Amino acid sequence: MIKKDINTTTTNLYTMRKNIVAGNWKMNTDLAETQDLISGLKKIAKTSNAEVIIAPPFVNLYSAFESVKGLDITVAAQNMHQSDSGAFTGEISASMLKSIGINTVILGHSERRAFFNEKEDLLAEKVNTALENDMTVIYCFGEELKDRKFSEHFEVVHKQISNALFHLDASAWENIVLAYEPVWAIGTGETASPDQAQEMHAYIRKTIADEYSEDVAEKVTILYGGSVKPNNAEEIFSKPDVDGGLIGGASLKAEDFMAIVNAF
Ligand code: PEP
Repeated sequence: MIKKDINTTTTNLYTMRKNIVAGNWKMNTDLAETQDLISGLKKIAKTSNAEVIIAPPFVNLYSAFESVKGLDITVAAQNMHQSDSGAFTGEISASMLKSIGINTVILGHSERRAFFNEKEDLLAEKVNTALENDMTVIYCFGEELKDRKFSEHFEVVHKQISNALFHLDASAWENIVLAYEPVWAIGTGETASPDQAQEMHAYIRKTIADEYSEDVAEKVTILYGGSVKPNNAEEIFSKPDVDGGLIGGASLKAEDFMAIVNAF
């Protein structure tokens, strides 16, 4: 495993803490639906300063990338393999993504962890590969309901971050965006309350300050994910340590997604 020696020198989109709203389309949208959804996004004016990211399925990444040219929208992948190339049937590498203009990748989503058994040692490898390819990583993590019930949510989140990311050099954090997504709030309609989100985001920032520095912690963008909708986005985003959202269901409707983007 790469130790604290990943020293990315390239200028990247995320060198400072930003407001970001990212839509994870999951395994939804065929080619025509991808185009329709992007057309819908184009029709709605962006009135906030938030950066917009969309993550369509692999097969539609190139088409999406071409369609958003000239717009203030970044296209991200939902996953990638940790190896550069080889006999890994069905997998996609960082260099393949880069070759079609994709520089951002979501890693560690709870569905990847739950359904594809992705553990933090694997995620650490994926993170390393993404950073070595000058990509930005949106690293997802979050506790399950049972962890919160037993008051183990801080400990669980600490492990999820430290196991996958604390081997990195401080400078590598310029290319890391964190997405705190409590599993019990994903796709359930149940959100963490704005205060619960703020409490965890502040804890995450302190954890990073303790391991690295206040400077690194202050600059890292921390998104909240879990049933964010147009009617709750503004309150959640108003919290000082919540820098934006990773949006599932509501990112599949242009009006809803743009209402969330414009909630800043
Ligand atoms: C997600 O899958 O990352 C997510 C936050 O989903 P939803 O917004 O539907 O809860």
